[in-house]
Amino acid sequence: MSLDIYDRILSKRLDGERLNLEEGILLYSCDLLRLGQAAQTLSDRLNEKRIVTFIVDRNISYTNACVVDCDFCAFYRKPGDKEAYTLTYEQIFQKVEELVALGGTQVLIQGGVNPELPLEYYLDLIRAIRQKFPSVDIHSFSVVEFDMIAKKFRMPLEEVFKKFKEAGLNSLPGGGAEILVERVRKLISPKKATSERWIDVMRTAHKAGLKSTATMVIGHVETIEERVMHLLNIRDLQDETGGFRAFIPWTMSPQGTPRMQHIKPTGGEDYLKTVAISRILLDNFEHIQSGWLTEGLKLGQVALGFGCDDMGGTLLEDKVLEPTGIEVHTRREDLVRLIREAGYTPAQRNTNYDILHVFN
Ligand code: SF4
Repeated sequence: MSLDIYDRILSKRLDGERLNLEEGILLYSCDLLRLGQAAQTLSDRLNEKRIVTFIVDRNISYTNACVVDCDFCAFYRKPGDKEAYTLTYEQIFQKVEELVALGGTQVLIQGGVNPELPLEYYLDLIRAIRQKFPSVDIHSFSVVEFDMIAKKFRMPLEEVFKKFKEAGLNSLPGGGAEILVERVRKLISPKKATSERWIDVMRTAHKAGLKSTATMVIGHVETIEERVMHLLNIRDLQDETGGFRAFIPWTMSPQGTPRMQHIKPTGGEDYLKTVAISRILLDNFEHIQSGWLTEGLKLGQVALGFGCDDMGGTLLEDKVLEPTGIEVHTRREDLVRLIREAGYTPAQRNTNYDILHVFN
């Protein structure tokens, strides 16, 4: 039997070789199930015990005031708008307290680029959470917020990360990447950090000893080639720093966004292909996370057969996605059941991906 082009590309990767841009683009025209099978084989090699992890965490959107005006964002309000808000420390502490009561171990504090907040708002907040809730990992503030902080307070990024780390920050979420290609960023978020800047901020964080995740948002104006370019940009930085713990692809939710409501939501097949291709191309990433938050729990569960080995967090709430019609009420038991039904052993992890409890 003669091998077709897809067999050749997938065999090359399964034999331990790295794939290039052209091969990554070609994979998007390969049959979904063949991609899934290859991605799952690669994932199972890294995960011999067939454990799928999740974390009990909470997103806290501390402010929705933002000056970046991304086309796809239904969450932000301009500073001074009557719906713009910034949470007080007391409101934030109460949310962290609720998380701790549920056995949660991670808080993801992230919000708009709010020029009205002083540097001490961030640093004192981190110090206070570290002191009041020592068992909680602070996995917080995106590249976009750090970019603004460095520019506004005229500090080199190295100094910014040193201060945040000393205050008690544990790691960074991978938000604000969307697609790390300038054509796309100019179209959907022209005021946001450029691809080069995003990579530079992440590189500096990693060098300062702060680990992070990496993300990709698909289903807006990007081409297939640009998706693959994004993946290879992330892979290059991982080669350089080794600072990414996991990769999380998800799809844009156009509902409620300022300038993207006309875009048809990306289907499940495209999402699963992207998950599988991420697992195949990102040969230097240990974990790929299923994006059940935007894709729904069922599709998130299916993604466990396409290369994902982690279901992310229970979250409790997500104020960023609520305006797009997505509400989160997921409990630990829901994720345990979904992982079991997919044929894996569920385990609760911490931010560092250490296993805290296996649900046998
Ligand atoms: S995605 Fe982030 S940076 Fe862009 S408008 Fe929304 S809150 Fe601001």
